Amino acid sequence: MSTSVLVINCGSSSIKYALVSERREDRIFGLAENLGSADARIKGVTMGGAALELSIPHADHEKALETILERLAHHNPQAIGHRVVHGGTLTKAELLTPEIIERIREATPLAPLHNPAHLVGIEATMRLFPELPQVAVFDTAFHQTMPSHAYRYALPKFLYTQHNVRRYGFHGTSHAYVSERGSMLAGSFKQGGWLTAHLGNGSSTCAIWNGQSVDTSMGLTPLEGVVMGTRSGDVDPSIHSFLASNLGWDIYKIDKMLNSQSGLLGLSDLSNDMRTLIEASEQGNEDAALAIEVFCYRLAKSLAGLSCGLPRIDGLFFTGGIGENSAYIREKTVSYLPHFGFNLSKELNDNLKRGTEGRIDHGTGPQIWVVPTDEEGRIAKETEHVVDEVTASATKKSDAEAAIA
Ligand code: ADP
Repeated sequence: MSTSVLVINCGSSSIKYALVSERREDRIFGLAENLGSADARIKGVTMGGAALELSIPHADHEKALETILERLAHHNPQAIGHRVVHGGTLTKAELLTPEIIERIREATPLAPLHNPAHLVGIEATMRLFPELPQVAVFDTAFHQTMPSHAYRYALPKFLYTQHNVRRYGFHGTSHAYVSERGSMLAGSFKQGGWLTAHLGNGSSTCAIWNGQSVDTSMGLTPLEGVVMGTRSGDVDPSIHSFLASNLGWDIYKIDKMLNSQSGLLGLSDLSNDMRTLIEASEQGNEDAALAIEVFCYRLAKSLAGLSCGLPRIDGLFFTGGIGENSAYIREKTVSYLPHFGFNLSKELNDNLKRGTEGRIDHGTGPQIWVVPTDEEGRIAKETEHVVDEVTASATKKSDAEAAIA
């Protein structure tokens, strides 16, 4: 990458940022958190790896972005790349224009927790830095190659044609990066059939054939699919009418329960954090042990299901906080997939150093790799690509105009 790109990921009360340049070691990154409260602060890493902690009492998104940019201005970022969870029908990264911002707004009903926060960040950076090109990179875009038999729900057709009710998929930048990087490490760049398991607080799986997503576990929203930190993943949709009829719950209460009180937290009644659950289970906590078992079993089931989208399986990539760091979860998950010929090496799996990439199978059967994700790097790359394309087409247009004149 020849330019430096500021990557911004705005949540409802936080902003993750990273200044991405040529070398990964030079990356400056951080998190502005508790925005809007007396405790608002920025924590991060500056040039050379030094820690940064800055109190910004009562700062809102705009103030926090201003502070971040002030600190980074002398590094001269040439563009800003925004992570946007839901792009609706947008199929690729786009330069931010009033029309694209409107399309992101239109997709808000599909990502009510995420898109409004992204829009706050986008509007603030557009006001603060009108001269910098800004690009939206969508979590959904990578999955736009899914065939209709993978993305349609078996629901009345008009819900799709008139209301865009379909499966979209998320974590696209991570699945794209990990499958590209992993297939390169495996010596078959963007070739063959791969499964990815992105396991963090939010988790999803993906099937990739020749570099393109052909199916994924998340759907209309990031609730569908595997068990997550606080999200249920797949449940019988009749749970809504059951809870409404029998417990008198309204739709908001049911939605909150499925998104914020379920998953590992709901099952264990203890924590949404996998590390805490592993420790508790080692000390004999049966609910924690069951939560881990359900997580791994349902994850394996999802990977097995997605394999239907692939003509053959060349291998499996683990990523995300859990996938990158927990040999125990990787081993347990693979043990639920005995019919695919995976041959995990206990030694390589247990000895893989935290945060490093590496192959963890015996060399027979489909490959198994751990590939630390780099969503910021991928967003920066796509941002640079869009800016280059726009610049090239503007140059071509002005050359053509000059020729006519
Ligand atoms: P997010 O989706 O918020 O980006 P991360 O990808 O950082 O989340 O993943 C967070 C999850 O990773 C937490 O459940 C955390 O407990 C888990 N995790 C991190 N390190 C380990 C570890 N060594 N063993 C097991 N789980 C881990």
